[in-house]
Amino acid sequence: MKILTIDLEDWFHILAHSETERPEQWERFESRVERNTDRILEALDQRNIRATFFVLGWIAERFPELVKRVGEKHELACHSYSHQLLYKQSRKEFAEDLKRCISTIEQVSGQKLRIYRAPGFSLQRDHHYIFEELCKNKIEIDASVFPAVRNHGGIPGFPFASPCLIKGSNFLIKEFPMSTSSLLGKQIVFSGGGYFRLLPYSIIRSKMKSSEYVMTYFHPRDFDPEQPMIQSLPMKRKFMSYVGLKGSFEKYSKMLDQFPHTSIGQADESIDWTGVPVVHF
Ligand SMILES: [Zn+2]
Repeated sequence: MKILTIDLEDWFHILAHSETERPEQWERFESRVERNTDRILEALDQRNIRATFFVLGWIAERFPELVKRVGEKHELACHSYSHQLLYKQSRKEFAEDLKRCISTIEQVSGQKLRIYRAPGFSLQRDHHYIFEELCKNKIEIDASVFPAVRNHGGIPGFPFASPCLIKGSNFLIKEFPMSTSSLLGKQIVFSGGGYFRLLPYSIIRSKMKSSEYVMTYFHPRDFDPEQPMIQSLPMKRKFMSYVGLKGSFEKYSKMLDQFPHTSIGQADESIDWTGVPVVHF
């Protein structure tokens, strides 16, 4: 099962960086999200692939036509309104942001939202209240668990890198975590972000082949070598943000040609949830 997901945000939606982390800073940047997303949509159309798009409420508010267009053929999901790290928000702030995201996207698209992904996979082990709020807001599926070490959050000891149920005293949610793979003794995510752009296609292909479950995550900016570079990013983040932009669309197209991909909704239908493991939170 290879699942295709796109986080629908712009080139300046870079977390935890003083020049780009707050919504009031975003208005002054020139957007590139429409042209970059249209290129992605075209590639999916040509191959008849349905993907899941995790949309920022902020984007849906400014580009309603784009989000409507995406929603005509693809599944829309919630990626928060203002793209803030979960562990920097209070429960109240999280709940308000979530509600605003869901209502904005639902209003624009007419689709009911039932899937969520946290900004930057910033979900942590003590975030049971996040799941409580998701369930209160009729979210049935989460895709926020990053079962490896990560700069922002991540749950390194999480027991599964494949679909499972997460259960708390007053919630039950279906989880589609990121898939991980080992590279030189380290658990990495090859199916999105810096590693996807950095690794040669031969490695991506062999990892795709040998993994039964792959959760991908791409952004429109991942395929845009012309985007402005944020010069003040620390060296390592700059490298991981901009490495391999030139060849990435070609690599991504090859991957789509060689491996069938589905949306989270399609994957959900194909799973017998009575047989999947349960993680207690
Ligand atoms: Zn994001």
